[in-house]
Amino acid sequence: MFNPDIYRHDFPILSQQIYGKPLVYFDNAATTQKPLCVVEKIKSGYLEQNANIHRGVHFLSERATEAHEAARQKVQQFINANSSNEIVFTRGTTEAINLVAFSFGETFCKADDEIIVTEMEHHSNIVPWQMMCERKGAILKVVHFDDNGVLNIEELRSLLNEKTKLVAIAQVSNTLGTINPVKEIATIAHQYGAKVLIDGAQSIPHIKVDVQSIDADFFVFSAHKIYGPTGIGVLYGKETLLEKMQPYQGGGEMIQKVTFEKTTYNELPFKFEAGTPDFIGSTALAEALNYVEKIGMANIAEHEHQLLCYAQEKLSAIEKMRFFGNSPKKSGVLSFLVGNIHPYDMGSILDKLGIAVRTGHHCAQPVMDHFGIEGTVRASFSFYNTKEEIDILYNGILRAQKMFKN
Ligand code: PMP
Repeated sequence: MFNPDIYRHDFPILSQQIYGKPLVYFDNAATTQKPLCVVEKIKSGYLEQNANIHRGVHFLSERATEAHEAARQKVQQFINANSSNEIVFTRGTTEAINLVAFSFGETFCKADDEIIVTEMEHHSNIVPWQMMCERKGAILKVVHFDDNGVLNIEELRSLLNEKTKLVAIAQVSNTLGTINPVKEIATIAHQYGAKVLIDGAQSIPHIKVDVQSIDADFFVFSAHKIYGPTGIGVLYGKETLLEKMQPYQGGGEMIQKVTFEKTTYNELPFKFEAGTPDFIGSTALAEALNYVEKIGMANIAEHEHQLLCYAQEKLSAIEKMRFFGNSPKKSGVLSFLVGNIHPYDMGSILDKLGIAVRTGHHCAQPVMDHFGIEGTVRASFSFYNTKEEIDILYNGILRAQKMFKN
């Protein structure tokens, strides 16, 4: 039996009191808390190992370079990429998607080509594609979901054709919690010669990811969603594609030779890493990946599933409770509204009780439009959460209901 209490000691922030109440942190889909080992890694990185990487011949620089490249290999192993050349460090999911939208778009897309996204995407997996389509005269198509939050795969099939260049899809929706069948989607897309980008921001902390098994062409995620630091993320791309794609940004590190007449570019993955990378962040990300691996992704998934089932059952007993996202395959995300209580009001009252939830459109306005609502309250779970915390949430919602006579 998984015991979250064993791990809560690794997260000092969780033992804080908020307004005199124990903190209940249910905003894990926005960002996760950091274990001591990750914070210690950042600290020792700056205190013992800080020197700019790659070009230095001195001891500290070589040690920092080795640690950064070892972190790249850790990421490669964690998502089972074929080569560390396929791992590009970015600022996060958003930058990784923008990189692909620009570089893939410039290299492979022309007027009238088509890109497919879904109705449940985060804005960061919509807007970069819109910008690319505008630049290239390409067309953005949308796959919709049903009222349970399940994607319409038949619609996807009907949209695909020889003009489709890429399908961009979240593995897990940050708002509905839906786990999408990305492997099946990749197979279907590939039948039409389309490439697939998988937004793994919400799947990487919860599900064991194997990019080769999914056959993802691109897979992106942010370190801060998987107990790592902010400001760093990952783009995985198949080497054959990355090789052909033109660079995203120009600058130091991404070049082989610069003259005023002509510049040649560095090999992978450095071609896509202009400027000084976050070489402290990369080692802290590797530490976070080691940490979750020690706990075991299967244990994490199982415990979070238990929390989700418990929360769904408990909260569904509340009068006028509406859940948004009832897919049979669902991650630990619960979006809800109670009667006419505005999500912001609910969130503010829960906050005064020490419960951190997120309110609003969750950067997924098309999802809100689907249901004709402005926003939801979202509780999102981590392996360090407990059933007792869900009981506290339940009581908090009842209290808000009483206050609003709703
Ligand atoms: N996609 C999804 C599904 C997300 O949940 C998020 C973060 N909320 C992002 C993309 C963007 O991630 P970041 O802000 O770390 O770049």
